[in-house]
Amino acid sequence: MQRLIEFDQALKTLLVSIDSDVGTTKLNLSECLGRILAEDVTSLIDIPGFDNSQVDGYAARSSEVSVGKEFVVSQRIPAGSNPTNLEKGTVARIFTGAEPPSGADCIIMQEDVKIIGEQKVEVLKSAGVGENIRKRACDLKTGEVFFKKGRQLSSADIGLCASVGRVSMQVYEKITVGVFSTGDELKQPGEKLERGQLFDSNRPMIINCVKSMGINCIDFGCLPDRLEPTVKSLKSASEKVDAIITCGGVSVGEEDHLKDAVQELGELKLWKINMKPGKPFAYGKLGKSAYLGLPGNPVSAWVTFSLLCRPFILKLNGKELGKTLFTMARTNFDYENRNSRREFLRVTIDLKGNLQLYGRQNSQILSSICFCDGLIEVSPKQTIKAGENVKFYNFSSIG
Ligand code: AMP
Ligand code: MG
Repeated sequence: MQRLIEFDQALKTLLVSIDSDVGTTKLNLSECLGRILAEDVTSLIDIPGFDNSQVDGYAARSSEVSVGKEFVVSQRIPAGSNPTNLEKGTVARIFTGAEPPSGADCIIMQEDVKIIGEQKVEVLKSAGVGENIRKRACDLKTGEVFFKKGRQLSSADIGLCASVGRVSMQVYEKITVGVFSTGDELKQPGEKLERGQLFDSNRPMIINCVKSMGINCIDFGCLPDRLEPTVKSLKSASEKVDAIITCGGVSVGEEDHLKDAVQELGELKLWKINMKPGKPFAYGKLGKSAYLGLPGNPVSAWVTFSLLCRPFILKLNGKELGKTLFTMARTNFDYENRNSRREFLRVTIDLKGNLQLYGRQNSQILSSICFCDGLIEVSPKQTIKAGENVKFYNFSSIG
């Protein structure tokens, strides 16, 4: 029997094999959400650009301030205005984001002052040097690189780019992924199901996984369980896309033709991973296109897509991947993996934020993916005790 490849090794093999040469394009900031940076981004200005007040309050000289002391309010400084020097022995009314007047070295919070006359206040709580003042460039300095090439831009990232005055960004062009389902038993929603048939759920699921990553996707339809049309369709697809994903037909039965088709047309680099679900996963090369073969069981397709294809496709599109796909999280259950395969178990997050084992772990039960929050990884022979921290793959970051 062929030796199963360890999950970590499979992921590494996939990722190191990438030597993509994706084109780049300049986009307006408003079009950059989810796009992958093709340049390092430098701050054009200091952020903040000037010292400013963190609160609504009174600008003062800290050496003059003490509890119970009364001050005349000598000027009023709303955000965006230009203050004059602070007269000695006085304070200035100031608002959040406004520049303190020269001479002032602290801001007393409005709540720490009592108004005792038209332009007069009494200090209830004193303030030390620098208190409630945000210093110029405390966030970013002019010329500082704050985003590296390969970053996938989030909404907050776009906000930060706008804050330094960026109008446009150099990003990678979107690569294109093509998706096939396979199986004579499959019908499409809207068609009539005959005995023994089922609706094709993997293809719409995987197409939407790809689209939600901000990647172009072509729907190549459903392949019959025959070698000849499989070879023909894969060949033609490999001329059109950067990566091909198939679902099903990659296992060991006589009705499984994907492996033979890939070997006939190109190279099969990897097949069968020591994981559950997801064992029959395949990876190869068809001309210039990458080939990713997912198992047919919907949960296995989802898990192998999320853990192996997703990082692969993002890296193929120029993304610099994070250190890990998982975070550590606490379980509220005992579990023993008696299997020699690495298990990825579906879990939910309970009201206390701990992980709870989902009851139905069969790889055909697609509803389990919809009703769970993520997967935990359990090594062969590993025993988990309630309260222990385990590797958790949250669907909201990998799905
Ligand atoms: P296979 O890997 O082709 O042997 O398929 C394994 C199981 O997954 C079989 O029960 C198939 O009917 C089912 N399956 C395969 N492809 C799909 C699909 N696209 N949508 C739903 N179920 C599928
Ligand atoms: Mg099949």
